[in-house]
Amino acid sequence: MQENCLFCRIAAGELPSNKVYEDEKILAFRDIQPQAPVHVLVIPKAHIASANEISHINSGIVAYIFENIPKIARLAGIAESGYRIISNCGEDACQSVPHLHFHILGGGKLAEKMA
Ligand code: AMP
Repeated sequence: MQENCLFCRIAAGELPSNKVYEDEKILAFRDIQPQAPVHVLVIPKAHIASANEISHINSGIVAYIFENIPKIARLAGIAESGYRIISNCGEDACQSVPHLHFHILGGGKLAEKMA
């Protein structure tokens, strides 16, 4: 855990979140500023700064997140209608929280273009 990392602190329960799913390795919670009718963030509890830090050493948790996304989507009520998964990485992508997270967006028709 990194003391000054917002999502590490949320994962540790030091800061509140509106949880959708949690287990020992990952946490899914509602985005505080939703950009779609349903907007959930999925994070590994262990700190990884961004997608740019994924390697053969830590990629297992990324696979684990994706294995759990269908369940998280079901819990959020968007599994049937569909959803978009996004991970912003670095400055040009406007990543604002430097702890790896996957946005799950749905609950309505999304824009066709992503950028
Ligand atoms: P990104 O800009 O891709 O790094 O995404 C960071 C996301 O975290 C944004 O969509 C924010 O709205 C969201 N966010 C920031 N602080 C919180 C918080 N305390 N609880 C839930 N979501 C948050």
